[in-house]
Amino acid sequence: MRVAMIGTGYVGLVTGACLADFGHVVTCVDKDPAKIEGLLAGRMPIYEPGLEDLVARNVREKRLSFTTELAPAVRDAAVVFLAVGTPSRRGDGHADLSYVYGAVREIAAAVEGFTVVVTKSTVPVGTGDEVERLIREVRPDADVRVVSNPEFLREGAAIEDFKRPDRIVVGTEDERAKEVMAEVYRPLHLNQGPLLFTARRTSELIKYAANAFLATKVTFINEIADLCEKAGANVQEVARGIGLDNRIGSKFLHAGPGFGGSCFPKDTLALLRTGQEHGVPLRIVEAVVGVNDARKAAMARRVIAALDGNIAGKTVALLGLAFKPNTDDMRDSPSIPIVLALQDKGAKVRAYDPQAMEEAHKVLSDVDYRSSAYDCLDGADVAVIVTEWDEFRALDLERVKNLLTQPVIVDLRNIYRLEDMKRHGFRYESIGREGTA
Ligand code: NAD
Repeated sequence: MRVAMIGTGYVGLVTGACLADFGHVVTCVDKDPAKIEGLLAGRMPIYEPGLEDLVARNVREKRLSFTTELAPAVRDAAVVFLAVGTPSRRGDGHADLSYVYGAVREIAAAVEGFTVVVTKSTVPVGTGDEVERLIREVRPDADVRVVSNPEFLREGAAIEDFKRPDRIVVGTEDERAKEVMAEVYRPLHLNQGPLLFTARRTSELIKYAANAFLATKVTFINEIADLCEKAGANVQEVARGIGLDNRIGSKFLHAGPGFGGSCFPKDTLALLRTGQEHGVPLRIVEAVVGVNDARKAAMARRVIAALDGNIAGKTVALLGLAFKPNTDDMRDSPSIPIVLALQDKGAKVRAYDPQAMEEAHKVLSDVDYRSSAYDCLDGADVAVIVTEWDEFRALDLERVKNLLTQPVIVDLRNIYRLEDMKRHGFRYESIGREGTA
C-alpha cells in the first residue's frame, strides 16, 4: 500500500518508518528543507532509540523515502496521513490548526482517485468535519474519506509503542475507509493489535481524554507527595500501595517536578477550550493545569531552600534537561521554568543532558552546557536531578561528593535511596519522602 506522511516530526517520522517496516511504501513529506536534506543524508532530526537503524533499513529496501514535494507523494498514495504539529495557540490555549488546514488545502489540490486522509495529529473534536469541508471546498470532485487515527506513542519508547500498541483507535463510519485502515494496520492486527473503530468525533475526543486522564494521575500523585512530606509518609510506597490495585494501575504514579513535554500541557489546555466552547466545565482538568503550573515554581524554591535561601552567585548543576529520558525533546520541559527561576534569583546555572543540549540551547541562554555529569558537577554548589536518564542513576557518589563544594543534591525524580545518600553524607532533598524539606 502506498502511504504519504505529511509532517516528518516525532510522530510522522516514527509512524512513517514503522509503516514502511510493515511492508508499505511510504513517502515522508516535510516542508522544512533542512529536515529532509538531513534525512536524505541519513541524519535523524530527533533522538529516538532505534530510529536511525529502522530508517536506514527501510530506505535501503526502498520502502521509505523523503521529500519536500507534497503533491506527487499525495497523488500516488492510497492513504495520506496528517502528522503536522498542533501547538497551543498563543494567548488562548486552543490547538493551533493552521498547519493542519494548510496541509489539507495542499492535499486536496493533489489527490487523485479514492484516497483516505487520516488525521494522526492531535486535533480537537470536530476538526475532521472541518477537514472534510475544506477538501470539498478545494476539490468538489475528490473521492476522499477523512478518518481520525490519533497517536498514543510515547517519545523515548516510540517504536516499541507503535509496533505493540495497547490499542489503535480509528474514527470513521465509512466501510471502505475501515477496510483501508484495517489493511494499513494488518501486520499488527495479525498479532492481535486491538483495532477499535469509533465515530470520528469520538476518536478525536479519546486522544484528549486519554492525555488529560494521564496528566491527572501524575498531578494527583504529585499532590499526594506534598502531603507525604508534611505527614511523614513515603510517596513511592504510597504509589506502589495504590498502583498494585488493578483498578488504579502503577503507571504514571511517579511523583516529580510536574508534567511537561510536547503533549500533556498543550492537550490539557486545548481540552479546556473545547469544554468552554461546548459550555461544559471540565473542573478536574482545570485543577490539573493550575496545580501543575504552580508546581514548576515550587521546584525552583526547593533548590533555593536546599541552599538555605542563599542562591545568589551560587552555581547550580542541572543533571537532565529533556522532559523525560531517551528523548531530546525540550518542548515545555519542566527544566525551563526551573532554570529561569534560578537565574532570576541570581544563580549561575550549568547543565548536562545526554541528548537534549542542542535543543536546550535554542530555548535556554546563559546556561553553561557541560560535556558529562561529572564535568557539570565539578565545583558546583548544588546538584539538581531533573531528568531520570539511566546514566544518572548510578553515579559514583563519593566522586560526586568530592566534586561539589558542599554535599547537597536535590533529586526531583527520586532515583536514589535515602539510606545511600545518608550513608554518603549528603544533604538530600527528594520528592514526597522522609527527610525531604
Ligand atoms: P513536530 O513539530 O515534531 O513535527 C511536525 C512536522 O510537520 C514539522 O517537521 C513541520 O515542518 C511539518 N509540517 C508542518 N506543516 C507542514 C506541511 N504543510 N507540509 C509538510 N510538513 C509540514 O510534531 P510532533 O511532535 O511529531 O507532533 C505531531 C502531531 O502529533 C501533533 O498534533 C501532536 O500533538 C501529535 N502527537 C505527538 C506525540 C509526541 O510524542 N510527540 C504523541 C502523540 C501525538
